[in-house]
Amino acid sequence: LTVTKQIEGKKTGKQENSGIYSNREARKILEYLLEHPSAVFAHNVLPSDDVAYPQAEAVLGDAKVDAAQLLADMTSAGVLSSQLVDKAPACPQCGSKQISTRYLCPQCSTYDIRRTYLYEHLKCGKVGNEESFKKGEQVICPKCQSVLHNFGEEYRVVGVWYECNNCKNSFNNPSHSHFCRPNNHKFSPDLASLIPLFQYQLNRNEIENIRREILVYSEAVAYLENLGLTVLAPHSLKGKSGATHRFDMVLVFPKKGWRGEETTFAVDVLPSSLAVESDVFKNFAAKARDVKPAKACMIAVPMLPSDARSLFEDLKLTAFEGPTIREAMQAFQSKSGISAYIS
Ligand SMILES: [Zn+2]
Ligand SMILES: [Zn+2]
Ligand SMILES: [Zn+2]
Repeated sequence: LTVTKQIEGKKTGKQENSGIYSNREARKILEYLLEHPSAVFAHNVLPSDDVAYPQAEAVLGDAKVDAAQLLADMTSAGVLSSQLVDKAPACPQCGSKQISTRYLCPQCSTYDIRRTYLYEHLKCGKVGNEESFKKGEQVICPKCQSVLHNFGEEYRVVGVWYECNNCKNSFNNPSHSHFCRPNNHKFSPDLASLIPLFQYQLNRNEIENIRREILVYSEAVAYLENLGLTVLAPHSLKGKSGATHRFDMVLVFPKKGWRGEETTFAVDVLPSSLAVESDVFKNFAAKARDVKPAKACMIAVPMLPSDARSLFEDLKLTAFEGPTIREAMQAFQSKSGISAYIS
């Protein structure tokens, strides 16, 4: 499953990545990993049988997100790498990892079986079950009647044997069955699901891209905050259709004048010059049309990809470009109309 997901993540490429970079929780994880590049997020199976990632949860603070799902999504997006560390047996019916095992008679399937050891008297070579050697408190060889004292020197265990109290069958290897403790579903080991468990690390091959994207995004937010503006990043706005749409940054300006309304600017950041799929622009145009903020625009560093420029113009979108994020933000500050709101 994970392998398929990774391939899908690669296919959607840039689009998948921009989703990850504008995800606030994913950014927290990436910011932490840029500071601690050798950190490993290891799993922990809780008594409740949930899989937890305590270190990732500590980084996320009190954010209400499923850390395991977030780490898997970040792996699909190519920013983390995962290593398989275990396969946990789970109930095929309900998925519970709280599993008990029973040892059964292979003939009649009862769990009422008894284990005995096969003893060997080393001197005379007699092999027999534990009971035939035990006479009260003493161990006596049933063949030569020697009283045996030293386990390991005079006699030893040469085998294990099971006997069924129900059908009296004797056997070497009991068969096994499982049941899940929460729902008591019974199943054989052949039917148990094997759930892969992963640990996660920064994807070293992507570290330069991650550094650039994370730093560009936080710099854009910091630039606007330094102007004294309120920046919600990322933030979702409700459209006329009733759907909510997520933007990388939303600037909210308080009411102005006697009939003024709250003014919002919705901004997405396109931090890299890598090929951008046309869907990114179409989606942006569609959500801007639905939400109708005072202004909707994109910040592109260093510039819009040339093959996308004509589509971008057809959709009547606005972008502010610059060789660095600072210069792109300066263009945004001077030409987007926000200067009217800066005191
Ligand atoms: Zn179950
Ligand atoms: Zn039996
Ligand atoms: Zn003997």
